[in-house]
Amino acid sequence: MTLGSSASSPPVAAVVTVGDELLYGETLNTNGSWLGEQLSRVGLAVHRRMVVRDVREDSQAAVASSLEIGEVVVVTGGLGPTPDDLTRDAVASLLGVPLVEDPSLLQHLTARFQARGYDTIPEQGRRMALVPKNGEVLPNPLGAAPGIVFHCSKEGLCILLPGVPKEMKGIFSQGVEPLLRERYSQRLEEVLHRVVNTHGVPESILMDEIRGLFPGDANDISLAFLPDEVGVRLRFSTRQSQGADVASKKLDDLEKLLSPVLDRYRYEAASGDLAEAVGGALHGAGETLAVAESCTGGLISK
Ligand code: ATP
Repeated sequence: MTLGSSASSPPVAAVVTVGDELLYGETLNTNGSWLGEQLSRVGLAVHRRMVVRDVREDSQAAVASSLEIGEVVVVTGGLGPTPDDLTRDAVASLLGVPLVEDPSLLQHLTARFQARGYDTIPEQGRRMALVPKNGEVLPNPLGAAPGIVFHCSKEGLCILLPGVPKEMKGIFSQGVEPLLRERYSQRLEEVLHRVVNTHGVPESILMDEIRGLFPGDANDISLAFLPDEVGVRLRFSTRQSQGADVASKKLDDLEKLLSPVLDRYRYEAASGDLAEAVGGALHGAGETLAVAESCTGGLISK
């Protein structure tokens, strides 16, 4: 549940993660979370994340619909040499961009195989040297398949990265982030988040109480209600278009305005863990806690 909204002048981004194993739940989609966090940190507005099968038409449909809502689409998975690695071909044919063999990339890949004692690169492996005509290649410092960049329109980019998390992260940090910072330098807007942990109040009641105080003109601050078994975390977010200090002051002012409600339920714990807050309060008051446990494996004192 979210109150308020933020302006959407920064480039809108979408993340598409490809892989049957992600859908079966066999592999946790850590690439999706990590990329969402990094793209937001860089200052893009992440509006969509999708998981699709290793099926050509599915990745094409995901990229096509992502390009309808965003300028930057980052795809991970399916760039390797095996027959289920279809992403490169699928996106090239969707965008109508021919793939060409990059001689220096082929040489680099061949050398990798030779360094491991093979005569040359296997035929299947040569696919990893195919890059979009007029596109860009982002070197992979930790593996074989590089990242590749398709230019989709005047401003748009479709960036393909390998699925292996370590490789994907290396290419993002060394290639994708500098590219985004250069290309969209005037439009990137980092978001400042602030979390308030609450306990002892249901989400709907908290929402009603906050709604009564939430100023109508705070539409550049969004507020998300994130309930879990301990309580409801409130995440306030605002763009830093006028600088970090201005954004921080805006959040301070709103927090002050909402304090009659927040102060009734909030607890302070950097980890968000209620046990940390209880421990901190006891410690601050110079108190100790004795726990008599049975059949709990010592979990309460832990
Ligand atoms: P490779 O060159 O190794 O074939 P690839 O680009 O073809 O890489 P995949 O074959 O799809 O990528 O996946 C490689 C590995 O990375 C697999 O172990 C897979 O489970 C893991 N992986 C793929 N996508 C994700 C993801 N979204 N989150 C976490 N791990 C992932």
